[in-house]
Amino acid sequence: MDFDFNTINSLADLAGSAGKNTGAVIDAVGKIKDLLGSKKPEDQEHLNDLLMEMREKLTETRMQNVDLKEAIIELREALLKQQEKENEFNRYELIKTEEDDLIYSLKDDDERNEPHHYICPRCKEDGIKSIMKARSSNAYCDRCNSSIALTEPKPINFSSTSYF
Ligand SMILES: [Zn+2]
Repeated sequence: MDFDFNTINSLADLAGSAGKNTGAVIDAVGKIKDLLGSKKPEDQEHLNDLLMEMREKLTETRMQNVDLKEAIIELREALLKQQEKENEFNRYELIKTEEDDLIYSLKDDDERNEPHHYICPRCKEDGIKSIMKARSSNAYCDRCNSSIALTEPKPINFSSTSYF
């Protein structure tokens, strides 16, 4: 729903290239160890090249780590938002009206002491909580114009209605 798949993809890419760089550094360290004992001038040159290469890789990895950290933070925020939304929706249960329509109703044991109300099932599918308003014996959604008949509505205390 709200999940940013681009973030996940870039996170995977970053983790992949950071891993590759780390591997390259480990390889270079191994080669450097071998060359350290050598007195041959060409090995010294090779050693310098390797050290230079390693420094570049480390700088690159450091920058990738920063990006990685940012991507993780972004992802964590997205997860948190998702979790909050789910918790909010968990306060409602899907019920069948007398007309066999489905509507989300605030659970009886909800602890927030809000007046009983319904939310729109169609808008919920879009991940949006839209409190329905009372219009004669219908519950009406301002957002998507859905109207659901409540022939024998539970005690409805639509809080912000001006239709009566
Ligand atoms: Zn709606």
